[in-house]
Amino acid sequence: MSDSLEQSRSVGKHFIGGEFVAAESGATFEAVNPATEEILMQVARGDEKDIAYAVAAAKSAFDAGDWSRAAPSFRRKVLFKAADLIEARSAEIIRLQTLEMGGPLGPEFPGPHPVMARSAWNLRFFAEEQEQAGGHAFNRDDTLLTYTMSDAAGVFGLITPWNAPIMLSTWKMAPCLAYGNSAVHKPSEMSPLSISILCEIFAEAGMPQGVYNAVLGYGKEAGIPLVEHKEVIGVSFTGSPGTAKDIAGRAATSLKRTSFELGGKSASIIFADADLKKAVGAAAMSIFMNSGQICVAGSRILVQRSIYDDFLEQFEKVAAAWKPGDPMSRTTRLGPLVSKAQYDRVMGYLDLARTEGRVLFGGGRPSNLEKGYFVEPTAIVDVAQDARVCQEEIFGPVATIIPFDDVDQAIEIANDSTYGLAGYIWTESQTTAHYVSHRLQTGMIWINSGFDRDLRQPFGGMKMSGLGREGGGLSREFFTETRFASFPLVPRGAATAH
Ligand code: ADP
Repeated sequence: MSDSLEQSRSVGKHFIGGEFVAAESGATFEAVNPATEEILMQVARGDEKDIAYAVAAAKSAFDAGDWSRAAPSFRRKVLFKAADLIEARSAEIIRLQTLEMGGPLGPEFPGPHPVMARSAWNLRFFAEEQEQAGGHAFNRDDTLLTYTMSDAAGVFGLITPWNAPIMLSTWKMAPCLAYGNSAVHKPSEMSPLSISILCEIFAEAGMPQGVYNAVLGYGKEAGIPLVEHKEVIGVSFTGSPGTAKDIAGRAATSLKRTSFELGGKSASIIFADADLKKAVGAAAMSIFMNSGQICVAGSRILVQRSIYDDFLEQFEKVAAAWKPGDPMSRTTRLGPLVSKAQYDRVMGYLDLARTEGRVLFGGGRPSNLEKGYFVEPTAIVDVAQDARVCQEEIFGPVATIIPFDDVDQAIEIANDSTYGLAGYIWTESQTTAHYVSHRLQTGMIWINSGFDRDLRQPFGGMKMSGLGREGGGLSREFFTETRFASFPLVPRGAATAH
């Protein structure tokens, strides 16, 4: 167990009403380092009581109005300060993330780590959006003027996963808080440490106490009471479809609004006219980055038959550079999976792959690593599109590779999925790129690229990959109460109401 973590006043504690506190029950759970299987520390294990305190703190902060009715310029100032602090403490945050969930530190960067720069951007983007966004005024004729109002709505529940803890948390916090709401955040039990730095940052940046609260713990013990709490008016959730269904059912009983960003089985579609070197590198990055634990991972690779053999040869060579190893080392690109449960799950799929298809490379535990939840980068070939390994989200560094003959067959295979999150198209033909973009049943499409973002665009998925979109004005719609006010321009009585 790490002494410095245990002695920290903030790490592994809830953050409620501006204070770092243990669980009311005194209960804890273990945070485990997935690279070493060692226990990092005991973490506050939240339940219904902790959620009740946090929601009460959030509600009283909302009602006080120091944030919810503050000038947009004040909220902007605080969120910009928080963004600066995220960048300043980037190395510290990334280190805690690596300890808790195994994502590699990556090389030394001259400035903040790119994932922290993106987290800071989330805050700055919505801090500006809320200041600039306006409503509509309609002057129907000379008798009536109406205008829309988008005000802070109340207390939101934010429930986030472990695969990019701070980036995905700030993606929800930023609009929630920027538009003046209060939040109770339930980070994943698998990444309960790094969030404490964000809590410190919000306090230092001058956010009024109680506006943002974090309750650590399990979904069943802390997540469910948050969803069910009567003062919580909406839930923004990123995680698995099964959990989303549970949240949707509970939220329905009190008619809460929900927004769901879920899993995927996204296809990288590589046409014969693509820049093959770039496509191979990007396809590998798309499935091996973060050990494949990314919702938009390109876990199915579809390759036009005339370049199929060439692709396999090059893909195997590129994959060799994704060697599993110590995520604390600056040269490691592939860390462990997040947990024993996730490791066992992925190993189960690798066993299945041997009966459903053929393992081209990888397919097991790296022989040089005795401890930790490591899995080799793996490619599965000679597999039918309806095989479970082609249909189910594995959430590991495992790609299935399937050949196709023409553009319509590529679209048919890509769309043959219960998921619809992302699609990657590799072709030099603009006509092919746009034809495929319009026909792919996914919320997001990247052409000859991957992961580029403009935060004004809708992020989210179709089918089992999500319900609702977040980004730009769509986040504003979700996180505000949109209403109208109407007033007559001539004395009432002379005008007729319609
Ligand atoms: P993953 O499989 O990616 O971990 P989950 O959907 O299990 O995704 O978890 C994502 C987040 O949802 C975590 O913070 C988890 O604690 C929380 N969670 C899990 N089950 C529930 C539930 N029934 N209600 C509310 N939150 C939950």
